[in-house]
Amino acid sequence: MRSDAYAFDSADHGAALFNLEVEGFRYSRISNPTTAVLERRVAALEGGVDALCVSSGQAALNYAMLNVTEVGSNIVSVPQLYGTTHTLFAHVLPSQGVTVRFAESDQPDAIERLIDDNTRTVFCESVGNPAGNICDIEALACVAHKHGVPLIVDNTVATPILLRPIDYGADVVVHSLTKYMGGHGTTLGGIIVDSGKFPWKEHAQRFPMFSRPDPSYHDLVYVEHFKEAAYTGRCRSVYQRTTGSVLAPLSAFLLLQGIETVALRVERHVENGRRVAEFLSTNRRVEWVNYAGFPESPYHALAQKYLGGRACSLMTFGVKGGLEAGKKFYDALKLIKRLVNMGDAKSLACHPASTTHRQMSVEAQRRAGVRPEMMRLSVGIEHVDDIIGDLDQALDATEAAG
Ligand SMILES: *Cc1c(COP(=O)(O)O)cnc(C)c1O
Repeated sequence: MRSDAYAFDSADHGAALFNLEVEGFRYSRISNPTTAVLERRVAALEGGVDALCVSSGQAALNYAMLNVTEVGSNIVSVPQLYGTTHTLFAHVLPSQGVTVRFAESDQPDAIERLIDDNTRTVFCESVGNPAGNICDIEALACVAHKHGVPLIVDNTVATPILLRPIDYGADVVVHSLTKYMGGHGTTLGGIIVDSGKFPWKEHAQRFPMFSRPDPSYHDLVYVEHFKEAAYTGRCRSVYQRTTGSVLAPLSAFLLLQGIETVALRVERHVENGRRVAEFLSTNRRVEWVNYAGFPESPYHALAQKYLGGRACSLMTFGVKGGLEAGKKFYDALKLIKRLVNMGDAKSLACHPASTTHRQMSVEAQRRAGVRPEMMRLSVGIEHVDDIIGDLDQALDATEAAG
């Protein structure tokens, strides 16, 4: 059944719902029964207490940041970010009075140096897109908590199948459900998962919004009303309710279907990724391959610790001959699709410098792990021989074209 709003049993029932005194549904901008199932499932997969679905990964990131910041506060972030997240942090949040301090690297001491009294969160991608760096979540959480600040982690690339950041101290986990979680490149969606562990009350001076009465919600006190789920409770009551980046329930249904197979798909993605990385690294026409599964990768030890050695199927590489050769290779692909999505069942390739990371300066691109000639490959779940066959013929074509 489809419905935007839900009938009350009586005037008193309606009033009780609006007072958040009883559980139930009022209007689909605030919550929806189908979407609620998706929220409970992803919260369970991530080990959180509550979750809020929104219309896209970017909406999730925006809300996750707005929920802890005010004019004058700052966020400390690792530099290896998804391109649009970098744009949100470098341009959009600052225009609203929130500054983002980009650390020199993803190392805990580089992050700690930038935290001050106005810092409201530390942010990282557990596995950076497209840099492929793996963040030491436990160490970053430790540094953040030492200063009374939560750690917010974008877990889109890893998925809870490979890594559960909350197990290592993350306070909030954000996802683009558009990628591996949905898994079929058909449906945009985002989610914010609340670990329920950050002591907002203890840090009421830094985070007054959770502990003081909110006049926009007839003086509700979020830590009193929502208890350990104060973060998502406030996010829903304030941002989702008033600015409405709602996930369509039909999208929630499609994403739920995707999530039923995410564990199986990720297993195949990981295995295919390993075979493709091995093929590329031994191919004489390939200059370099960045893949955390190789022992020589600087992230190999972290891949063992956080991913159980199951390196993600997102990898980057450079074709010999630089940007021009890379473009010839790209144009010669047949099975592998030329598009900017990732985490699809289908294999996808993109050239970040001219697409996803185009808005960044060359220097910012370098810090984000993007090189001019770099190709990003999201290895799908097709038969691995077909994927390797396509890469092989495209590399042949590159050489033939000189
Ligand atoms: C794609 C992506 C996003 C943005 O998600 P959308 O659903 O496209 O808005 C955020 N973070 C990462 C790591 C991503 O890969």
